[in-house]
Parts: sequence; C-alpha cells; structure tokens
Amino acid sequence: MKAKYEISFDVSEEFASGRVSHAGNVLHVDLDSRELWIERPPEDRYRKLLGGRGFILHYLLEEMPPGADPLGPENVLIFAPGVLSGTILPGTGRHGVGAKSPLTGVLASGEAGGWWGHELKRAGLDAVVFRGRADTPVYLWVHDQQAELRDAGQLWGKSTGESQAVIREELGDDRVRVAGIGIGGENLVRYAAVMHDINRAAGRSGLGAVMGSKHLKAVAVRGTHRVGLADRSALKSTLGWITGRYEEEMKWAVDYGTPGALGYNHDAGTLANRNYRDGFLEGIDQLRHDHFFPELVVERDTCSGCPVRCKIVVENQEPRIQRRYGGPEYESLGALGALCAVSDPEAVAKANELCARYGLDTISTGATIAFSMDCAEHGLLAGSDYRPRFGSGEDLVEGVRLIAHREGFGDLMAEGTARLAEELGNGAEEYLAVVRNQELPLHDPRYKHVTGLGYALSPTGADHMHNLMDNFANMPESEICARLEEVGLETPLPLYGITDRKVQAYYYESAFKHVMDSALVCHFYPYRFQHLVDAFQAAEGWRGFSIEELVEIGTRIAAMGRMFLIREGSTHQEDRISTHPLKPLEEGPIAGKTIDPEEFAAGLQTYFELMGWDKSGVPQDPAIRSLGLEGYPFAA
Ligand code: SF4
Repeated sequence: MKAKYEISFDVSEEFASGRVSHAGNVLHVDLDSRELWIERPPEDRYRKLLGGRGFILHYLLEEMPPGADPLGPENVLIFAPGVLSGTILPGTGRHGVGAKSPLTGVLASGEAGGWWGHELKRAGLDAVVFRGRADTPVYLWVHDQQAELRDAGQLWGKSTGESQAVIREELGDDRVRVAGIGIGGENLVRYAAVMHDINRAAGRSGLGAVMGSKHLKAVAVRGTHRVGLADRSALKSTLGWITGRYEEEMKWAVDYGTPGALGYNHDAGTLANRNYRDGFLEGIDQLRHDHFFPELVVERDTCSGCPVRCKIVVENQEPRIQRRYGGPEYESLGALGALCAVSDPEAVAKANELCARYGLDTISTGATIAFSMDCAEHGLLAGSDYRPRFGSGEDLVEGVRLIAHREGFGDLMAEGTARLAEELGNGAEEYLAVVRNQELPLHDPRYKHVTGLGYALSPTGADHMHNLMDNFANMPESEICARLEEVGLETPLPLYGITDRKVQAYYYESAFKHVMDSALVCHFYPYRFQHLVDAFQAAEGWRGFSIEELVEIGTRIAAMGRMFLIREGSTHQEDRISTHPLKPLEEGPIAGKTIDPEEFAAGLQTYFELMGWDKSGVPQDPAIRSLGLEGYPFAA
C-alpha cells in the first residue's frame, strides 16, 4: 500500500528473530508524488541476485524506461546492501549505490564502506529505490521500520560535513548515518559522488549528480535490529581462518592501507604519471607513505565490524585539512597526485578533502585536471581563465573548487574529459584516457594488459574493481591465484600479454567480484570461493550452494550489466581504450610496453565466447535462458 510522506513497515519474523540475514523489504520512493511503499521481493531473487549490484541491475532493467535521461526524473537510483551486509563475517560493512550514469550513459554502480549499509539493514530494509524528482529539496529519514521524507531546503548549498551535522542535530542522534551529496551533486557535476559518513564515497560515474538531479540531498539511517544468521556453524571455519590470518594476509592493509601501495606501484610502472606521459614521477619520495604518514596521518579508521582499520585520517594546519573528511586512498593519491605530477602530499590531501566536502569522485576529478594540464601545455587553453600547470598543487586545489562550483572553465571540466575534449576540439581528444567516457583508474593498461581488457568489458566504463590484476595473478602466493586454482586454473599467469588462459582467469575473477559487490564484501579480504559459499549457507541457510552456483551468479550479474549497456545504446565499437594511455613510454619500468591490438581483439572474442555472447558481445538466447534472464526487457 502506498503512503504519502511517511510509512511504517514490518520485517519478516525470521529477520526479527535473527534467523536470517535479509530483512525482506525494499522501500520504493516516488519523489514526484512523495509516495512511499514497500515491496516484499520473492525469496528466489535473493539467491539469484544477492542484493547490491544484482538488485541495482534488476531495478534498472525493470523500472527504468530504455533511453532515459540519466539526469531526468525517469532515472532510477538504488541504494542496496547485500545478503552478507552487516553479518558477523568481517568485511561486510558495505553497500552498493546504482543508477544510469550521466558520465558514461551506461551503468553506474559503486560500493561504499563504513556503517551506512549495515544500519539500513538494521532499520529493516534490503534496498531503497528512488524515482522521479522532488519539486523542492528533500532527505529521507529511515529508522526502525519507519521512513519519512523531510524538507531539505535548509541543507541545499551546504557541504557534506555541514549537512550531516545539521541532519544529526535535527534528528537528535549523533549515531545517525548519512549518505549525502555536496555542491558537486547539486551542480550536476557528471562525476559527483555520494558520500557516506562524509568520507566514504560511492565515487564513480556520477551517482551524486543523479541524486542532485532528483533534489535528494541525503538519506539518513539508523536501526537497531540484529542482522542474524540462519546457520552460524556453517561460518565457523571461515571465521577461524580469517581471524587467524588477517594480520598476516592483509599486512599491507593493516600497516599502511591502500596509500602504502603508491610507492610500490610507481616503481612497478603502473602509476600513469603526468597524464600517462612519464615513466617516473619527479618527487615521488614525498608521496610515499614513509614520508607523509608521520607528517599528516593522525589516526586510522575502519568499517563496521572490521579489525583491519585500513583507512587513514589526515589533519593539517596550513593548508587547513579537516580530519573529519578522512584521508586519501591509493586511487586518490594517484589521480590527484601522480596524474597531475603533483608530489606535494599536503596539496594532494587538501584536494582530497575538498572532493569529500563537495562530493566529487577523486579519480575523475584528478584525471580531468591532469587532462586540462596537458591541454594547457599544448596551447589548447589559450583563451581560458584557468590554465593549470603540471606539478602545481595550487592549480590542483583551485581546479577542484572550480569544478564543484562549475565556475568559469570549471563548468566545462564538470562535464568530464571526453565532453571537455569535444568542446575544446583542435585534437584535444589525443590526450584522453577513457573507456565509455569514464576516466581510467590508476592501473596503467600498458603494465596490466588484462586489466585494460577488463576496462573495455566493464558494464560501468573503465573500472578496476570487478577486474583481474595481472600483477597479482602473476604472484604464486596471491589470493587471486588461490581462487583461480579453486576453479581449476593453473597459476601463476604470465605478467604481460593477453592469452586465452588469462581471459579465462578474468572471467572467473570478475564473476567473483560481481558476487562480492552484490552480497557486499570488501575486496581487500582474501576470501576464496569456498569461504563465500560457506557464508551464504550460514547467512541464508541456502542448502546445496556450491562454487558452480556462485560463478553462475557472478556471470548472471555480468550479463545483466552487458544487457543494460546494450539496451542504453552502447556498442561493441566502444569496447576499447582511447589511444593515449596505450602509447609506449620511452623510459621507466614499463618502457616500450603496451597492449598488442590483435591480442586485445582476440581477448574480447574469447570472453564473449565464454559468456555465450555473439561476436559483437550481444548476449544470446541460450545464455540468457540458462541464467534465467529471459524476463528482462532487452533488445540489441
Ligand atoms: S579492509 Fe578497509 S575498506 Fe575493507 S572493510 Fe576493513 S576498513 Fe573497510
């Protein structure tokens, strides 16, 4: 039944008594009419799709009209924890956010850590689905088995931090968890992020702009239900395994978190310095963790139920950097630092803080400023009020501000590099590093060839998350090799090149990661296939669950991503990386290396065959039927 402005709902008896890990409820919110209603999904949807990205794709394929404007009211915005979110399995304090992307025109699907997803589940919901556009700004307040739309007029124009503080004060509870946007989302920056607890981003592909387009400033949640397990004993050996070895297997995360990888990745050659131009970054030592940790890092932070505490918190006086916005992760250090040839850690940390405050994706923000620096160096910004210089921390910080406010040249930068290149003309596209208009993350495809193939195949544009990292697949002791051996693949794999065996490895690894992004498990945990199989049996009591079923679910979600991509008009011609980041370097650790175009084309075909798709990557009927996807409207 539909209700206006607010609604109360029940949770299932199994969830209320802690016998199962899903609440059995999806909240729908029509922002046009301000109506709210509860859907009780069929039980088999949880087993087929797990929540998270699986649910996001379900609602996009079912509820969003084909060809909808990503910034129009017809777009559908979904927040979804997964069946493992908030359970006692370490690494499950996560949830997904998804919509059609205003940057790529295909799927936007990001995950964030922290407490928000866990809290939503504790409040009695497995997902919230928004459609329409409110005529005035609103926020949604979800607490134990109740939800209400509230006025957010007083929050519009405020930073993520200010807005969270006002919401907590208004609700009289400091433990309320807030997912919200800053002025980046309000100003429809095509790569605006949704921030959670103000320092954890569902960062990529413009989800914050979708929220802004709907005049939805925030979703605040608080719940007190316990997320239960159907069969705790099924989790005993996995819990024992991870508790006994996380300090050793995740030592890198315990010691320095992802920022610790920056120096290593620079030395290996995967850091894409100076917009993919240089093999080395001048001043790299200043960005290495051993240099900037003692000066800037004041605390370590974590996500719900995670003992690893991989996150860093930075604080500084001049420039003033507020600790409440956390600190830069590896991707942020790489994009705001190495890509822009800025090696001053204070400038990079300040730019990172502004991205959190305004609600911007750090990767696309850094990449857009780096691209602008390249264009300026090539004389393409002669008439512009902003001509940033490689290496200038001042220009970097100013660039973030201009983008968020869409001020001057920032208005063009807010469109992302591909649209900016088109606007500039004069050969600017020659300096682009994109797939499907999305800026590449900090894993150079000249070093990681299959990761590059994965960028082209991803339903979300260039994406390193549901991907295979060639360097880890090359390390005999890595968890990736352990997983690949579980499904019968011989490891380690060669570092360079794209072979059938490496594409097969990508097939399994990306399926595994789609499962992680749907059930919602942190990628940093070294879980194997069998651990997740045990976790599903424990959480949901799914008897007979197997590694084969897990791979099938991952494959199903990958296929749904491809169906959505094709339905929204993207084609096989776009399964490619722009040419700039493939030009071989003259010096540095990866001098002379790049992807062989014939291997790349053959790799795409090998993957299409494994998935049961045709030569253009269109899913075919037998594959669609075998995955149970024939009910989704889809036409190539
Ligand atoms: S390892 Fe880091 S990102 Fe993953 S759950 Fe723990 S604190 Fe969060």
